[in-house]
Amino acid sequence: MARQQVDIVIAGGGVAGLTAAAAFGSAGFSVVIADPAPPPQAVEDEASDLRATAFLQPSIALFRDAGVWDELAPFAVPLDALRVIDTTGTPPEITAERTFEPADVGQDSFGWNLPNWITRKVLTETVAAMPGVDMRSGTAIDGMTQRESEAIVRLSDGTSLSAQLLIGADGRASTVRRLASIPTRTQRYGQKALAFTVTHPLPHNNISTEIYNRGGAFTLVPAQDVDGQSASGVVWMQDGDVAQDCMQMAPEDLAEVMTLRSCHVLGRLTLASPRRLWPVITQTSTKMAAQRVALVAEAAHVLPPIGAQGLNTSLADIRVLRDLAHATPDALGTPKMLDAYEKARGRDVRLRASAIDLFNRVCKSDAPLVQGLRTAGLKTVHDLPGLRRTIMSQGMGVAQNT
Ligand SMILES: Cc1cc2nc3c(=O)[nH]c(=O)nc-3n(C[C@H](O)[C@H](O)[C@H](O)COP(=O)(O)OP(=O)(O)OC[C@H]3O[C@@H](n4cnc5c(N)ncnc54)[C@H](O)[C@@H]3O)c2cc1C
Repeated sequence: MARQQVDIVIAGGGVAGLTAAAAFGSAGFSVVIADPAPPPQAVEDEASDLRATAFLQPSIALFRDAGVWDELAPFAVPLDALRVIDTTGTPPEITAERTFEPADVGQDSFGWNLPNWITRKVLTETVAAMPGVDMRSGTAIDGMTQRESEAIVRLSDGTSLSAQLLIGADGRASTVRRLASIPTRTQRYGQKALAFTVTHPLPHNNISTEIYNRGGAFTLVPAQDVDGQSASGVVWMQDGDVAQDCMQMAPEDLAEVMTLRSCHVLGRLTLASPRRLWPVITQTSTKMAAQRVALVAEAAHVLPPIGAQGLNTSLADIRVLRDLAHATPDALGTPKMLDAYEKARGRDVRLRASAIDLFNRVCKSDAPLVQGLRTAGLKTVHDLPGLRRTIMSQGMGVAQNT
C-alpha cells in the first residue's frame, strides 16, 4: 500500500505540539499530529497538568494568528502587573517589594494566564475540527528514517507516513530527539516545583506575585474564581526533600505552611486541587534541527519555572518555524530552512537558559551575601527605569518601547 504523504508530522499533543498543529494547519499545510496520551477532561484527571501558564503578548499573537484565541479567551485571566517580593529567614521577613507594570514596555497587560489542562483540552477540540489537520490520539511516533527528500515516520499503530518535516514536540524525554541522535546537556539543582490551585479571602486583582526565599520562588498566578472564591495557581520551588514533605502533608497543615511562606499577601491559602511535583532542571539539546527534523519546546529546552519563560520560549520556536515555512513553502524541511531555524532560535534559547540558570542559583541560595545581592538586584532593576524596561522587554520577548 502506498505511504500517505503529508507536509508535516508533529510528535506530541501537549500545548506546544497542538499550537504548532494550529499554526501550520491554519497556514494551509497538511498536518498529522500524534500523541499516545488522551487529553485530560477534568482537573481531577490523573493526566491533568496542574501548572498554569502566563502566556505573554507574543504568544497571544500566535494564538490569534492560528485562530484559537477566541476559544481560549473565556478561560483566561489577564496579567496586569507583576509584584516581586524578596524575603529572608523562616518565617520569611520581607526585605524588598517592587511592582512591575506593563505600561513600562508600552503594553496594556503582560499577557493572560491559563491553566495548562484547560489550554490542552480546548486546543485539542479546536485543532481536531481544523481542515487539513489529522489528529491521531492514542498513537506514538516510534521510528523514523531520514532521507534528503523526506522523513519516513513510523507510528505505534503500525502505519507509516512520508513528511517534508517532522516536528518533535514530544517533551523533555523526546523520542524524536533520540531518533535524530541529538544529545542534551542537563543541569540539576536538587529542587522540585509543586504546582496546585489555592483559594484565598483577598482578591488577586490580576497581579502575579513572586516571593523569593532560600530554596526558590513561591509564585501566585491569578486564576478564575473557584466556587465563588478568589483563586490562584501556585508554583512553589524548594529543596527536593521539603517539596516531597509538602506533597504528603494533610491539607490543613499545608495551609499553615504555605500561608506563612506567602507572607499572608492574599490572606489564608486553602488547597483547592490535587498537587503535582515537577523536577527543576535546565536541559538544552545541542542542536534544534537535523535532516528533515525540527525540535521545539521541551524537546529542545527545559527551563526552571521562573519569569514565565518555558512555554513562551517554546511558542517563539513555533512562530519562527511557521514564518520560515510561510515565506518559502517549497523549501519546507530543506537544509536551508532548518539552518535558518537553528540560527534564529539556537542563540536565543542558549542565552535564556544561561540567564535563568544563573538567576535560579542566586534565588535559591541561603548564603547571606548572595541573599543581600538578590535584594539589591531587585531594587536596582526596578528603580533604574532604563534597566527596568530593558529587562522587561527581554523577558517578554517584545521590542523595547522607549
Ligand atoms: C511548575 C511549572 C510551572 C511552569 N509555569 C510556566 C509559565 O508560567 N509560563 C511558561 O511559559 N512556562 C511555564 N512552565 C513550562 C511549561 O509548563 C512547559 O514548558 C510546557 O508545559 C511543556 O509543554 P510541551 O508541549 O513542550 O511538553 P509536554 O506538555 O510534556 O507535551 C509532550 C507531549 O508529547 C507526548 N509524547 C511523548 N512521547 C511521544 C511520542 N513518542 N510520540 C508522540 N507523542 C509523544 C506526550 O504524551 C505529551 O503529551 C512551567 C513549568 C513547570 C515545571
